[in-house]
Amino acid sequence: MQAMVYTGPGQRSWQTVPDPVLVDATDAIVRVDTVTICGTDLHILKGDVPEVESGRILGHEAVGTVTAIGSAVQTLSVGDRVLVSCISSCGACRYCRQGHYGQCLGGGGWILGHLIDGTQAEYVRVPFADNSTHKVPAGVSDEQMIVLADILPTSYEVGVLAGRVGPGDVVAIVGAGPIGLAAVLTAKLYSPSHIVVIDVADTRLEAAKKLGADVTVNSRSRRPRDVIDELTGGLGADVVMEAVGLPETFEESVDLVRPCGHVANIGVHGAPATLHLERIWIKNLTITTGLVDTHSTPTLISLVANGRLDAATMITHRYPMDEFDTAYQVFGDAANSGALKVVLTATS
Ligand SMILES: [Zn+2]
Ligand SMILES: [Zn+2]
Repeated sequence: MQAMVYTGPGQRSWQTVPDPVLVDATDAIVRVDTVTICGTDLHILKGDVPEVESGRILGHEAVGTVTAIGSAVQTLSVGDRVLVSCISSCGACRYCRQGHYGQCLGGGGWILGHLIDGTQAEYVRVPFADNSTHKVPAGVSDEQMIVLADILPTSYEVGVLAGRVGPGDVVAIVGAGPIGLAAVLTAKLYSPSHIVVIDVADTRLEAAKKLGADVTVNSRSRRPRDVIDELTGGLGADVVMEAVGLPETFEESVDLVRPCGHVANIGVHGAPATLHLERIWIKNLTITTGLVDTHSTPTLISLVANGRLDAATMITHRYPMDEFDTAYQVFGDAANSGALKVVLTATS
């Protein structure tokens, strides 16, 4: 089969590799019908995720069709259409029993395209298949499902739920990349009074407006705190989500929140940030971090299937799988291409 292989820092190759085979009795093999590229894949390519070995097939999001199941797989059948989640789950360890699948101790967690071969290929082996896939409801398209593999549950769980967004809240989202925009969509489920999105790229701020942001701020031309002060009588935002992953955007997020408010960090950080305890110890803040668990995926699938969440609006570019190189270039140059979510579909 063909697959997108990480071949060392800065290098990748769409190349011929052996087809995956069943290894464990709980495995399934899934033919990948629709797949996407994540910002995390770009981090891997930069060399930021050193545990990814050269030769690893990238990708942790897919919608596909089951072509083989191991002898212990109980809920899937050959021919089923499934969402392959970014998080796998052994189902039996302490964390899985508590719904914290992202922290799985039994060989799951974020493994696809990280510790084992991933989804940017014609076929993928999915471990713990019963617990690591979700059946696609009738009438729901691949494009509606693919964004539920990672970005929607990540924004919803690590941003909206951890930040405890509530009715009437002023919510500030720092960063209007795919994760920040997915946070706009899922924060709206809780009827905040204002969603304020902060970024430095006007194209992304326009996308945020289209998805439902009430106020957008280009932090190169306006001080975000001034805008938040106007909306809150000088108090600060009820909830701030950090969706960039840089020290300065984390520090800004803490600076934007009101006393007794929540800062929910979603961004993937590669460098230390300063926590100004000398200023915030007195403010009763809650600051949360997290890797997605995907415990909310069934809820999000239900919202999509019932027309309550139109997640496919984030897809901006579509390619056949044999144009994976172009797709990476376009996604990697989002500032110029305007790419949010780039999807690829099987050619045969
Ligand atoms: Zn991802
Ligand atoms: Zn587990």
